[in-house]
Amino acid sequence: MLPVTIGTRTMRISSYPLVSLALLVACAAPVPTPQPWPLRPDPVAAIGGQRRADLVHLSLDLELDHEAREVRGVASSWFRALRGGTTELLLHGVGLEIQEVLDATGQALEFEVREPEIRITLARPLAKGEEEVLHVRYRARPERGLFFRDRSRFSEGFSPSLFTQGQKHNHRHWLPLWDEPNDRATLEVRVRVGLSMEVVSNGQLVEVERHSAESRSFHWRLDQRVPTYLLAVIAGRFDRFRAPHGSVELEFIVAKGAGEQRARETFGETAAMLNFFEAKLGTPFPYPRYSQAALADFVTGGMENATLTLVGESLLGTREENQDLEGRPRRIIAHELAHQWFGDQVTCWGWSHLWLNEAFASWLELAWVGEVEGENARRLRMEQYRERFLARSERVSLPMALDWHTQGCSPNRAHHVYTKGPWVIEMMSRLVGAEEFDAALALYLKRHRDSLVTADDLVQAVFDATGRNLMPQVQQWVWSGGLPELTMHHEVLGQELVLSLEQAQETTHLVPLFDCPLTVDLITSTGRARHEVRFLERSHSWRLPFDGELLNVLVDPEGALLCSLRQTKSAAAWLHQAADFEQALGVWRALPALRQIAGSSPAARALMLRILREHSEPLLRQRAARQVTWISEASRAALVRAVCEDQLAPVRSQAARSLLDHIQSRPFTARDPLSQKLRTQMESETSVRTRETLLELLDGVAPNPR
Ligand SMILES: [Zn+2]
Repeated sequence: MLPVTIGTRTMRISSYPLVSLALLVACAAPVPTPQPWPLRPDPVAAIGGQRRADLVHLSLDLELDHEAREVRGVASSWFRALRGGTTELLLHGVGLEIQEVLDATGQALEFEVREPEIRITLARPLAKGEEEVLHVRYRARPERGLFFRDRSRFSEGFSPSLFTQGQKHNHRHWLPLWDEPNDRATLEVRVRVGLSMEVVSNGQLVEVERHSAESRSFHWRLDQRVPTYLLAVIAGRFDRFRAPHGSVELEFIVAKGAGEQRARETFGETAAMLNFFEAKLGTPFPYPRYSQAALADFVTGGMENATLTLVGESLLGTREENQDLEGRPRRIIAHELAHQWFGDQVTCWGWSHLWLNEAFASWLELAWVGEVEGENARRLRMEQYRERFLARSERVSLPMALDWHTQGCSPNRAHHVYTKGPWVIEMMSRLVGAEEFDAALALYLKRHRDSLVTADDLVQAVFDATGRNLMPQVQQWVWSGGLPELTMHHEVLGQELVLSLEQAQETTHLVPLFDCPLTVDLITSTGRARHEVRFLERSHSWRLPFDGELLNVLVDPEGALLCSLRQTKSAAAWLHQAADFEQALGVWRALPALRQIAGSSPAARALMLRILREHSEPLLRQRAARQVTWISEASRAALVRAVCEDQLAPVRSQAARSLLDHIQSRPFTARDPLSQKLRTQMESETSVRTRETLLELLDGVAPNPR
């Protein structure tokens, strides 16, 4: 799942917080001291995790009444007893009106509703391994889990649709079922709707049955066992488009009127993505079919239901319409597709272990970015994960996975799984070696296909495939919180650099001292000398020899360790770093420092404008545009040039926003040739965001002095 909602089309782009950038420059504020968090038991792991019986099959026979916002019908769960003498079975349900519960013989069973549980007393005790079915007749007008919509962006007037969202613990609000990720079942869905709507669910369509002039039923079935949170039902007036692929049926589902071009330009990379993941993971796509549906006012960024991913309609646009989204559709589509292996085929054992789903999906999402946009783009997106993780400073000290929750904060809410999670996988991959790690993932997926996993299973698979023991990594990065908050000092003694690093984080019962393997590059007048250092203690010093004149010291130049770094560097060193365009990560890190010295350094100002104008990496031009905050003829001209000439909409849009800040203190005049250029650009601008900012800009142009 991706929890971020995108919002409306014009307001939907979130800019990444910059707070953490301060950590990379001199005189920066440190991460606030982690608070000691009291521990308490995780109620999900402790209670929801218990099973009396194994769920085998879930079958729904329902009517969805859009007008009444109501669901009614029968939900049937087949169980196999795990213990002899089982007399009671458990389902989950909240706000449901349960009418009756029948067993396989049709006998009515006693039941007790103690939300969120429904306890059902069986007619006789089950022997170990014996199967029983519970047919629950019910109705509900749900406020969660099942959502009714009346409109689509793409149709005028009434356009009914509905969808479900299971993760996590949401299905129980519209459906009586076993609603924990720790069990798996085959799924069968028969849903009756009005004649104008069609229904799509998991797996394959078995048949469509016409009942009357007003209604028909759609019968879907998934033969692979999946956790029930991956059940999905959608209904509406759809257009459905097929895409060619050798072995998997690919389909894009959109509201009627959205158009084939939008569907194909939004989802068009899916087949290539799927081939890429299959090759990287050495594992075929788990299902014979994969559909993606774009839905009106979907409740989350994207949801990876087995064989049926759901995303919001706001993601759906032509290439031109989506140019403001900064590649977000591509990343969401890759993320949800990657979940079909990590989450759907192999599932976290409980929600405390959610990182095993989300870390891989977020990491593989960027693997696809690397494949199509280049390794620099992938690394810079990893830096954005780091910055987003550090920006949630009050949560940094929380462990990513907990069987014992910290008070008032679940791992899911901490969002570490989406930011720290991919970093942990990246560090594991680097430690083991990329190819070896991918091979270990193939073993992990094969061994745990259609079953549940904890971190131990990942460690075991990597150990068996490569001989590398990742348990220390899991202990410090998954079961512990925090990160190395490094402070660096250095001093030159003749032809030696004395480098001192300290782990400044406050250690608590949750935050350890870390094992820090680091690369240190010494940039000198004769070239670059690389040193590998490693320390596990509070602080350590090294004497590193070099030739020639020392120009810069780069700690972790490849971005291989999740840490924050405080360092004091000379302006000359930052300038040297930012001028090395080949090292995109170095430029990324230097830009905030350049902004800090721009007031007193003409060289820094000139270099920032050159990055904005010339760097081949769009993310760096965009970052440079954001940092051009000083006002001069040159800076205004450079921003106007970027607005009018940059090929990438996010760069144009950011440059326009920076210009907007400029004119607050010094407005353009209408005769200014720069404002004339902006007017001309306005006429041909295709990016909605840039056009909106241009409108604001030109609105603020001072009238001609007469
Ligand atoms: Zn996800």
